[in-house]
Amino acid sequence: MTHRYWCDECGHRTPRLDAADAERRLLEHYAAHHPEVAPGGQVETGRGLGGCACLGLTALLLLLAVVVAAYRH
Ligand SMILES: [Zn+2]
Repeated sequence: MTHRYWCDECGHRTPRLDAADAERRLLEHYAAHHPEVAPGGQVETGRGLGGCACLGLTALLLLLAVVVAAYRH
């Protein structure tokens, strides 16, 4: 699971990181760019590219299993 924080003040987004790293990046961004504002923003969670690739591979294997099963009958 990856987390990406969006800055409410300027639309800055952190890279997709794990929750602790992404939050730290957001706090650093606020400290550097918006020191007068309390850190806020929105968090976007999602699977990384690795998760997508894994899901695609699973779907491909499932399709192969179906094809093999169809040929056996
Ligand atoms: Zn910002």
